[in-house]
Amino acid sequence: MILDIKSLKKRRILSSLIVLLLLTPCFILITLKDNDYNAAKASLPIPLVIIDPGHGGVDSGAIAADGSKESDINLAIALKLRALAEFYGIDNLLIRQEDITLSDTASYSEHRDLQCRTDIVNAKENSIYISIHQNCYPTGQASGSLVIYSENDKSEKLGKLTHENLINYLNPDNRRLAEPAGNKFFILSHVECPAILVECGFMSNFSESEKLKSSDYQTSIAGVLIGSFIQYTQDTKYI
Ligand SMILES: [Zn+2]
Repeated sequence: MILDIKSLKKRRILSSLIVLLLLTPCFILITLKDNDYNAAKASLPIPLVIIDPGHGGVDSGAIAADGSKESDINLAIALKLRALAEFYGIDNLLIRQEDITLSDTASYSEHRDLQCRTDIVNAKENSIYISIHQNCYPTGQASGSLVIYSENDKSEKLGKLTHENLINYLNPDNRRLAEPAGNKFFILSHVECPAILVECGFMSNFSESEKLKSSDYQTSIAGVLIGSFIQYTQDTKYI
């Protein structure tokens, strides 16, 4: 969808400013400067952002010590990411909007669920896929975000950019590096567009799990993701 971001900004600014101020930590305002708007406009058409909250329904993903489900946190972050995409006039598609699987609930199949998500992504043109997950480890020490990217140049560029931004804004002590997906992640191996999977943090780490459940931190993550998306699409080499 081609958008005149300048006019869109004028039209939406009053109604959206209050929402943004309520939702948005100050770093997002730093991340998404007017320069980003102008540069993003210069590199139109902006791709569709496909937001995929991992798991859902009978598949809750990782579970924290207090019973919190990864699938719920993934969805909460995804909804905030969609809200920010809407604010910036970025065309978007949210793969699930509630606690459901994309497979048949009665005869759940993880493969069918992943295949459905893959088919949704591959049915769209000029898109970028962002999958949202939380990590888990047998011991409680591991922490920090990690971005995994499909093995192609565009995904690598988006993945490394997003990972760096997550570290710079949210986990400055994180020493992890963005990782290529190899063939370990079905969707990342089978989608045709630039694609990343974001492990936002570790649910097995008590203090990080508490942060991941907080609305403010979820908004911070969503802010970094949309900021990284805009930075990536500024690059005219993308088009
Ligand atoms: Zn997961």
